Amino acid sequence: MSKNLSPVCKLCRREGEKLYLKGERCFTPKCSFEKRSFAPGQHGRTGSRGGGGSRMGRESDYLRQLRAKQRARRVYGILERQFRRYYEVALQRRGLTGLNLLQILESRLDNVVFRLGFASSRSQARLLVSHSHFTVNDRRTDVPSMLLKQGDVVTVRGGSRELTYFKGLGDLADARTTPAWLSRDTKQLTGSVQRLPERPEIDGILNEQLIVEYYSR
Ligand code: SF4
Repeated sequence: MSKNLSPVCKLCRREGEKLYLKGERCFTPKCSFEKRSFAPGQHGRTGSRGGGGSRMGRESDYLRQLRAKQRARRVYGILERQFRRYYEVALQRRGLTGLNLLQILESRLDNVVFRLGFASSRSQARLLVSHSHFTVNDRRTDVPSMLLKQGDVVTVRGGSRELTYFKGLGDLADARTTPAWLSRDTKQLTGSVQRLPERPEIDGILNEQLIVEYYSR
């Protein structure tokens, strides 16, 4: 699987807001956005963030749409081609395309592992899944992009439970909240999809309407 190789914290600085891409560190004073909230690069302090940054008021519709799409891609760690594919699937589904898109993103296995509290960030979840530490419906998988549906069960694989990380995972997960569309058992290190998430249960920093406008141009 190809991946975005940009230094993670620069992505937050480029977007001009915290995207919470590095797990627990994002909630500590070590967060680099707390120290340097201007955009990366030579012109960062002077306001050229991603083609608009501090000039938000004068930003064109196109740039706002582009930024909204890039922000969502960065939050979920997805490359452009796959993101566009998700948009096309969302378009085919009944209902609101923007909400469909967010529900597709949320139903990725790496996101579900993160939302269950079994990883501190989506990137960590992606790594754990790609190392085959989880099963879906009792079947081993190493595909972070697998889309889950209602009733699917995600479990830490038996052979992985002896690893130091997973031995302490129950307590770690208990300290993290999980959304109502998922249920979990932190003792058994398992969780399931109860339903697709409603809009208020998905990150507020995302603007799906602008993303739809971007792809509808
Ligand atoms: Fe963003 Fe987290 Fe890095 Fe802070 S620590 S800049 S929130 S990724």
